[in-house]
Amino acid sequence: MTKNILSELPPWAKKLTGQKFGRLIAIEPIKKRSNGGGIVWRCLCDCGNECFKRAGDLRYGSVQSCGCLQRDAVREAVTKHGMSRTKIYKIWQAMIQRCNNPKSTAYKYYGGRGIKVCERWHSFENFYEDVGDPPKGKSLDRWPNNDGDYEPANWRWATKIEQANNTKALKLFLAFGPYDQIEIAKNQHIFAKKWKLIPGHISDCLLGKRKKHKGWEFQRI
Ligand SMILES: [Zn+2]
Repeated sequence: MTKNILSELPPWAKKLTGQKFGRLIAIEPIKKRSNGGGIVWRCLCDCGNECFKRAGDLRYGSVQSCGCLQRDAVREAVTKHGMSRTKIYKIWQAMIQRCNNPKSTAYKYYGGRGIKVCERWHSFENFYEDVGDPPKGKSLDRWPNNDGDYEPANWRWATKIEQANNTKALKLFLAFGPYDQIEIAKNQHIFAKKWKLIPGHISDCLLGKRKKHKGWEFQRI
């Protein structure tokens, strides 16, 4: 198939195989015509994507990547320049501060009680990709688990009232220990520290994703 296509090509196009165009390497011509006509080449991009580009576009340099080049450029511009003054950037920065910076005034309610920002969200680009722009009047809430970390599985945009309800509703829980202990606790992180447990596993029990953790059972009240 490829040989037939090759024989139909003008001389310059015959030499495209293996040539590099920006991030793209032309692999082979295929019988797939785009709107403007002409043979389309299967290309491999440095980022690992396969894509199909017209020979003419490759030749004249009008395409340089599968599209990742533009995406990267936008990302870079957004993080280095434009976004730093936007609301979402400030939300991200404040979140990082209260979880990671002991000098932040809110640290004792967040980082100080073990609430973390997940690895992925340490990058603003990732965070922005996951949560987008905040709807008017809403702020970032850890939900459904108010004692959980900031992470893709535990967030929502909520009004102040929704947030307050979340805090109240999730505050108290009952813990049934392996030696018949029964405790009422407020904070999963403090409770976990006391009994050498893992806060995330307590959350999982409270959310019904896990039955027991080190012999403990948990129930919301
Ligand atoms: Zn690419």
